[in-house]
Amino acid sequence: MQITLEALRAIVGPSHVLTGDDVHSRRVDWMTGAPCQAGAIVRPANTEQVAAVMKACHAVEQTVVTHGGLTGLVHGAEASPDELVISLERMTAIEAIDQVGGTLTVQAGTPLQRVQEAAREVGLQFPLDLGARGSCTIGGNIATNAGGVRVIRYGMMRQQVLGLEAVMANGRVISSMNRMLKNNAGFDLKQLFIGSEGTLGIVTRAVLRLQPPTPSEQTALVACPSFEALTGLLSQMGKALGGSLGAFEVMWQNHYRLLTETLGRHTPPIAPEHPFYVIIECLGSDDERNAIQFREALESALENEVIVDAVIAQSHTQRDGLWAIREDIEGLIKGLAPLFTFDVSLPIADMQRYIDALEAQLAQRWPDARLVVFGHLGDGNLHISVSAGSDDVAVRREVEAMVYQPLAVLGGSVSAEHGIGLEKRPWLSTCRSTDEIELMQSLKQALDPYQLLNRGKILS
Ligand code: FAD
Repeated sequence: MQITLEALRAIVGPSHVLTGDDVHSRRVDWMTGAPCQAGAIVRPANTEQVAAVMKACHAVEQTVVTHGGLTGLVHGAEASPDELVISLERMTAIEAIDQVGGTLTVQAGTPLQRVQEAAREVGLQFPLDLGARGSCTIGGNIATNAGGVRVIRYGMMRQQVLGLEAVMANGRVISSMNRMLKNNAGFDLKQLFIGSEGTLGIVTRAVLRLQPPTPSEQTALVACPSFEALTGLLSQMGKALGGSLGAFEVMWQNHYRLLTETLGRHTPPIAPEHPFYVIIECLGSDDERNAIQFREALESALENEVIVDAVIAQSHTQRDGLWAIREDIEGLIKGLAPLFTFDVSLPIADMQRYIDALEAQLAQRWPDARLVVFGHLGDGNLHISVSAGSDDVAVRREVEAMVYQPLAVLGGSVSAEHGIGLEKRPWLSTCRSTDEIELMQSLKQALDPYQLLNRGKILS
């Protein structure tokens, strides 16, 4: 490393500069458990310390990688032995909640679930929600522009951020802690840092937008007889429930059957014989009204034959049981290993043709290959898992080509919500034009000319 441990210790104190086993015992890849290889980890307590660390790094051209909760899925947190990791794990304060304005001000290392709980405690809600809620951090959610299961109702992380503060590569602090819904005074600088995966700045604090609570959550698992029925169901539910439609999470039969019947990890609430299963949520403030609206919408879907079976959760435990099938990523890994996972988006109308073609291509190349699909259908987002019997890099490249290349023709994206990191960098040009990539490079050059922040992530 270019920077000395003494310089870092002088800023954050000796106990907050980690080396050796304290570094290597950290896992930087949730899927494989790969250990952190960084030269050292520094744990600042506040924005001033992050800025001082970056100033010192800038002076000696030390590259850094920022760590949040390490749940990212595209190798964005990987660091080499000559790199320094800046971990925000000590920056977990919820600084303020403005109940009138509906805002929450927070340090970026705070876990998402803590923010959800804090909002709930004052009778409001923070609606971003994903399976990694207990570990992922607000800074990581901002850096990756996280999505999750409530996007159909509330949008992605970008829509939840009113203001933020970031430390630039040279240690300068850009404090853009706007608390209003409207602020058109010049460029909206926070957008530079949302979704740029730590390549343009280190997010240290944020002002988040809170929403009114939806204490009544009606949840159902339904079965659909065909893809046409599935898309018909989505538009019917959109019309019948309007703004109350809180989630529309689809599992292809191969996903549902694997986690219920094949692995026996969950009792199937509906027999695993139908082509598609959907978890639908209806969010509201009044339990009785919400329940009636939801039941009527499902009855009409049954009459129209866009669904053939349905189970409505009668308790929190039953609701959690339905979601447990959808969120059982560990089960997927156990059931399919070795596997490759993908997070793509494409127009909904093209999805089934795309999946059918992929399945055929996989079967032709590896007759025993397995394909499992689920996703946030309403957002045009599919999560695809492929097991081709090997985790060899060459096999991975072949599978990647099968998954990603068709997206160029369809106007899809190689990353719906996980970002690019290192993993998808070779495929960025599949869904971004040369002009777009050159503009991204110009921005990187302008804000971080020495390429100190997350070097090589997103852009080469
Ligand atoms: P990390 O993994 O620590 O970092 C991710 C990237 O952000 C890295 O490039 C890192 O350098 C950068 N970064 C982290 N903190 C900062 C900061 N303060 N400033 C600047 N850069 C920073 N994602 C979804 O979008 N939707 C889902 O539904 C979803 N479900 C998941 C379910 C599971 C079980 C798991 C393991 C992951 C899931 N993810 C999902 C992916 C992951 O949780 C998100 O990408 C999350 O936003 C990452 O947050 P993190 O704090 O763990 O970030």
